Amino acid sequence: MKEVNRKSAIVIGGSIGGLLAARVLADHFDRVTIVERDRLPGVGEQRRGVPQGRHTHGLLASGAAAMERLLPGLRGELLDAGAVPGDIVNQGLWFHAGGFLRQVPSELNGLLQSRPLLEGIIRQRVLALDRVHVLEECEAAGLMAGCGGRRVTGLRLKDGRALEADLVVNATGRGSHGADWLEELGYGQPGVERLEVALAYTTRLFRRCGELSGNIAAIVPPTPSGKRGGVMLAQEGGRWTVTLISHFVPAAPMDLEGFRGFARLLPSPCIHEAIRTAEPAGEAQSARFPASVRLRYERLKRFPEGYLVFGDAICSFNPIYGQGMSVAALEAVALDHALGAPDVAAAFFREAARIVDIPWSIAAGNDLRMPEAAGARPASVRWINWYIEKLHRAAHRDAELSLAFHRVGNLLAPPPSLMHPRLLWRVLRENVMGRRSGCAVPLDRQYQRT
Ligand SMILES: Cc1cc2nc3c(=O)[nH]c(=O)nc-3n(C[C@H](O)[C@H](O)[C@H](O)COP(=O)(O)OP(=O)(O)OC[C@H]3O[C@@H](n4cnc5c(N)ncnc54)[C@H](O)[C@@H]3O)c2cc1C
Repeated sequence: MKEVNRKSAIVIGGSIGGLLAARVLADHFDRVTIVERDRLPGVGEQRRGVPQGRHTHGLLASGAAAMERLLPGLRGELLDAGAVPGDIVNQGLWFHAGGFLRQVPSELNGLLQSRPLLEGIIRQRVLALDRVHVLEECEAAGLMAGCGGRRVTGLRLKDGRALEADLVVNATGRGSHGADWLEELGYGQPGVERLEVALAYTTRLFRRCGELSGNIAAIVPPTPSGKRGGVMLAQEGGRWTVTLISHFVPAAPMDLEGFRGFARLLPSPCIHEAIRTAEPAGEAQSARFPASVRLRYERLKRFPEGYLVFGDAICSFNPIYGQGMSVAALEAVALDHALGAPDVAAAFFREAARIVDIPWSIAAGNDLRMPEAAGARPASVRWINWYIEKLHRAAHRDAELSLAFHRVGNLLAPPPSLMHPRLLWRVLRENVMGRRSGCAVPLDRQYQRT
């Protein structure tokens, strides 16, 4: 997209990705129209187009910082609405390699809330901008193009209407038809990378009543042998949201007893102990996530002017790493920069690919530990997974390693930072010397000392 007339932009999809894109576009275009299939509900209410909203949504520190940069004061508004603040290292129980990572004060000040609360507050802020308008209950059906298909000129709606725009941003999520629409205009489809993860989520809310010994989160990822994991986060309204995860094994049952029974099978008992007697709030919800999918728009040789793809429509990650919303926020910052470039699409897709590379490598690399996950496992991936396991073991006691791991997981530092010679030495020392000296408290119980 070489030249952009900056009069009007359309964003298809009014979820977190689309809203953050609209926020940025409002600095560059006179009018920004969000086209959303759903009727938009009040703050904190679920809606059909975002079924994942019923499941636990963690926000990484990098994503929270990018959102705050785009919408100053957002953190304060979320706190006012009941979001739970806390140091996610010092007040989070992260169970890896048979024990909890060392809890230590950090700069990773998390904010825990339900997905509808976060989306609702962002929506309020973005729709309050003078230049942003929304068309609710309005479904996009395809692109309109001019100049012999070289430029996208607007959108066809399902109801037969047409909307013209100088830029169309497709933020329609994982189920996006963006690649087909591109093909209809005579362009090639982007290459697709897909990693089957056969994930199932079952989520329940419980009333919060002092469980987890004052901690605000417990994260117990599935292991290659057990294939069952869980995430338990505090959220507004005095609730815990508890998601039980299965990887290549049957999903956690929806009924309360079955749900608790599944929690007992996790590598750490902490979530089971917390929900064993906790009072449930509402019914269980389930979701399936067959595969992580990445579309390589940045590799297309030809791409029309006046069109971009955004958020989950570019890459939808295995959700257990909690990356999607943060990547969308980082892409919004990248969009702001790209809109100043001579070729907006090339600049945006290049930067979006750079943003996606790291979380994709973290998620895909780790998922390949599962023997059932089909995909090449070069020596580098096997070595990294071996090393991370050793690092986790060492981080049960070593505060610096624990912090370094959390910074990478929060996309605040690149994965190679974990290979710094100082950290390599600490991993080695702790795995050799630490084992010899033994550990007085069973590692899966340590949090109870806090
Ligand atoms: C089970 C699950 C759990 C997750 N957990 C986390 C987590 O813990 N942390 C995290 O950061 N991320 C998580 N994610 C990912 C996160 O939900 C997304 O990354 C985030 O919503 C941003 O996506 P998006 O805005 O690009 O697309 P979506 O959120 O999928 O939104 C797409 C929007 O487009 C609209 N739409 C679709 N088609 C059309 C059309 N033709 N016309 C008009 N509107 C249309 C939809 O109604 C919807 O509003 C999870 C995802 C899943 C599936």
